[in-house]
Amino acid sequence: MPSEFDLIERHFSRPARHALLGVGDDAALLRPTAGMELAVSTDMLLEGRHFAQGAEPRALGHKVLAVNLSDLAAMGATPRWATLALALPHASEDWSAAFADGFYALAERFDVDLIGGDTTRGPLTICVAILGEVPAGLALLRGGARPGDDIWVSGELGGAAYALHDAGNAPAASRLHLPEPRVELGNRLRGIAHAAIDVSDGFAQDLGHILERSGVGALVHYALLPKFPCEDAQLQQRCVLAGGDDYELVFTAPQPARREIEALSVPLHLALTRVGSILPGAAKLQLLDAQGKSMAAGRGFDHFA
Ligand code: ADP
Ligand code: MG
Repeated sequence: MPSEFDLIERHFSRPARHALLGVGDDAALLRPTAGMELAVSTDMLLEGRHFAQGAEPRALGHKVLAVNLSDLAAMGATPRWATLALALPHASEDWSAAFADGFYALAERFDVDLIGGDTTRGPLTICVAILGEVPAGLALLRGGARPGDDIWVSGELGGAAYALHDAGNAPAASRLHLPEPRVELGNRLRGIAHAAIDVSDGFAQDLGHILERSGVGALVHYALLPKFPCEDAQLQQRCVLAGGDDYELVFTAPQPARREIEALSVPLHLALTRVGSILPGAAKLQLLDAQGKSMAAGRGFDHFA
């Protein structure tokens, strides 16, 4: 049985390119870029809660980093460093190797260094903290939406939730297990968008966070929402409005920015869809169907529900 130190050395010690000191000492040493603010976020995945027992370790390595990258994307920050805290039921070389492959493959694509962490025995739990940089004053906050703003959504909604209903749907499974964090979009929206959030708990709930923080309402046309294809319209509606785990960005931007935002779609190979607008008044989401009638938005994911 390998020791904790064997696992770290063999699987989690690839050289850091953008750190003064990476894995191996009591702490890592970083030198933030002058003029930048640090954006810091943490996300935890637990077996039995966020993923099923026996989940494929390579995909888990991807996903735990992807959900963290997505938080920085929603801040308009550029990810740079990550730490990884792992509780493993037993010291498995195979599991660690596959997990590390998935993690590092995504880390390398986004030029993120794994600079430290902690490894212990326990029920399978994976916790990543991520650090990124954003030019001072330009972070995209939840609280910046203003009446008259357009509401935009990237990609398609509902695919990850749909995967739980049809395990044989490969595109849906890939949305659930291998989400693509919209980092480049978040970066390009700096100075353009007024507010942004990533869709982790469902469109209605996550847009709701923007509304509450910004003290504004919203009008959204259900027909305009970009939807993952599904033949059952009711199921589709639940997946699109209240399904979590899509990791698309929902953002608001002033109307004069429409052209500029539409133009981002091409280089990013990503659909950007205008779905409604921000209203003055209470933090309430008004959702209209194709006939202009009010629809219930449903509830998003709540870990304590
Ligand atoms: P300490 O006893 O000081 O907490 P550890 O023995 O836990 O140190 O860790 C040794 C080194 O390995 C540290 O630099 C730590 O950041 C790093 N490390 C531990 N676990 C991981 C991991 N899963 N991924 C990356 N780095 C890790
Ligand atoms: Mg430790």
